Amino acid sequence: MPDNGRRLIVAANWKMHGSLQMLGEYVAQLTPVSGVELVVFPPSVYLFAMQAALAERATYVAIGAQDVHERASGAFTGEESAEMMADAGARWTIIGHSERRRFAGETDHRIAAKVRAALRAGLQPILCVGESLQERTESAAEKVVGAQLAAMAAAGGELDWQRLIVAYEPVWAIGTGHSARIDQVEDMHGFIRQTVQTLGGTAVDPVVLYGGSVNEKNAEELFRSTLVDGALVGSAALTGTRFLNIARSLQRMKAHKPG
Ligand code: PEP
Repeated sequence: MPDNGRRLIVAANWKMHGSLQMLGEYVAQLTPVSGVELVVFPPSVYLFAMQAALAERATYVAIGAQDVHERASGAFTGEESAEMMADAGARWTIIGHSERRRFAGETDHRIAAKVRAALRAGLQPILCVGESLQERTESAAEKVVGAQLAAMAAAGGELDWQRLIVAYEPVWAIGTGHSARIDQVEDMHGFIRQTVQTLGGTAVDPVVLYGGSVNEKNAEELFRSTLVDGALVGSAALTGTRFLNIARSLQRMKAHKPG
């Protein structure tokens, strides 16, 4: 366990990438990384195949859905509920990814409902928050992220903040090859911790991940920080080997090695 006792997580968001062939190759590359939770988010159409391919690897790799609908069922063509994702083998879900906010027009209100739907279905949500480049340039990054977090409390009644994992994903760092600097990450992670404790109580000890162009080269510097509990990774986690290398960086920086 790390010094602070919080969970250590590296999650791979495949986005709309992959195929059955890639899935098989990916899974074959996975081995345990002691002390680090590994989570893979394939497109939902591959959840069953991923579950089958993992077989005994399911003891150390969890799978998740990249999104869920906020309702359990209904006339919502093309949508899939949290309950259905859980039925299909998902144990985790990403909620409020900036690509969902941008391309699917997801509002904070809807994201708050999705967080509750995920919890209701027994899924572990990773709530993504983060500012745009313009918002950072205008020194509004904390205001934006603070509002995104506050909206989770404002909509939909009581929320058990301890059950929420937050990923700080500055929009300008996602898929650009330009990770945020460590001082920017630390400042925002500190702010997120403080805000979650203001909203959920001082006893809450939130797990906060960083996402945005994390790769095998910059992971170690990010994970050296006591404020970074792991990463949500996109393009650099599209092979099992690279995903594992990033998880091993986290292990080197924080987790006790086996034996
Ligand atoms: C993401 O999709 O959440 C992400 C962080 O992508 P990338 O690592 O490619 O920037």
